[in-house]
Amino acid sequence: MAYTGSCACGAVRVEIASPALAARQCWCSHCQKLAGGGPMHNAFFRTDDIILTGELASNSYIADSGTEIRWYFCPACATHVFAGADIRPHMRAVRIGIFDRPHDLKPEMAIWTQEAPAWAAIDPALEQYPAAPPPPPALPQS
Ligand SMILES: [Zn+2]
Ligand SMILES: [Zn+2]
Repeated sequence: MAYTGSCACGAVRVEIASPALAARQCWCSHCQKLAGGGPMHNAFFRTDDIILTGELASNSYIADSGTEIRWYFCPACATHVFAGADIRPHMRAVRIGIFDRPHDLKPEMAIWTQEAPAWAAIDPALEQYPAAPPPPPALPQS
């Protein structure tokens, strides 16, 4: 399946022709701030497979796992497009909300659930980790 998506104002567009490596829901406190109160939803793709149109701004923070995470957003409307870590430059965590529907992306794992608010309804069908999970599957070397 090929994926297309955009920020809320349409100034930034992405096109991805390859399948996602993983999809996750993150309840860490940083993600809750950035997502406005709920979890952040990410689908992981190879950086090289993402075709981007438009300008992105970025900022960074140190995640609860200790890794510096840089997130990229539309400077006009502030919609998150993707995030990435310098230690994994070959991979981007693309925000699932940007994708044009219909698409088949959905979280298969909930992580940092120990930081979820008491009212959070986490699907018991999802694989769950109270804190940092193992990293997404390693990419084939090429
Ligand atoms: Zn925008
Ligand atoms: Zn998080």
